[in-house]
Amino acid sequence: MSIAENIQDFQQRLSGTNCQLIAVSKTHPVELIREAYDGGQRAFGENKAQEMMQKQPQLPADVEWHMIGHLQTNKVKYIAPFVHLIQSVDSLRLLQEIDKQAQKHNRVIDCLLQFYIAEEDTKFGLDLEEAKQLISSEAFAALQHVRLCGVMGVATNTDDEQHLQREFSRLKSYFTTIKEQFFPNDSFFKEVSMGMSSDYQLAIAEGSTMIRVGSAIFGNRNYSVAP
Ligand SMILES: *Cc1c(COP(=O)(O)O)cnc(C)c1O
Repeated sequence: MSIAENIQDFQQRLSGTNCQLIAVSKTHPVELIREAYDGGQRAFGENKAQEMMQKQPQLPADVEWHMIGHLQTNKVKYIAPFVHLIQSVDSLRLLQEIDKQAQKHNRVIDCLLQFYIAEEDTKFGLDLEEAKQLISSEAFAALQHVRLCGVMGVATNTDDEQHLQREFSRLKSYFTTIKEQFFPNDSFFKEVSMGMSSDYQLAIAEGSTMIRVGSAIFGNRNYSVAP
């Protein structure tokens, strides 16, 4: 199937659900992103600020760019003018820098808190206590140019469905806890970003509102080729 057909296939599967597709275009050239765009896709995920910054002006302005990778504070400025949602916020310091850069561009940048849910040392993210501390801090209350819209997590890379189910359900429970404690009346706090090419069906069953799908749309990534 072509990239556009893959997009339409996913859109069809997701229609009638509360879940949207983020097409993960990292490492892929803008020509392939345009094929997905022509298939109707508007939300794209990248994991490197500079790569996102290079691709953004080459594609239509109504593309929604999602940052899904670990973001260093000194790179926030590259994406602050246009980024739609920063899904990978894992510290107050990063949130403060996003706030500062958003202010320069007179905008409010939507963010998700990334949680550590996998059993792998290499994955970034907060635990529930750290997230609660962050949200209840005075420093967070002072921020005017960021808006927390939910949570994000990357599950363990495994075929064990029960294991994945547990991780997804844990992330959903973090979302519910934070929603009830801090954002009960804020309709914008509603996102649970979880699920990738190999596990999105399980993630949807556990309450995902955003699946981040790369290889099932664009094919395998070749990290040795520059975008
Ligand atoms: C690369 C990536 C994805 C997509 O992975 P696929 O297995 O290609 O679907 C999703 N989420 C994050 C955070 C990623 O870095």
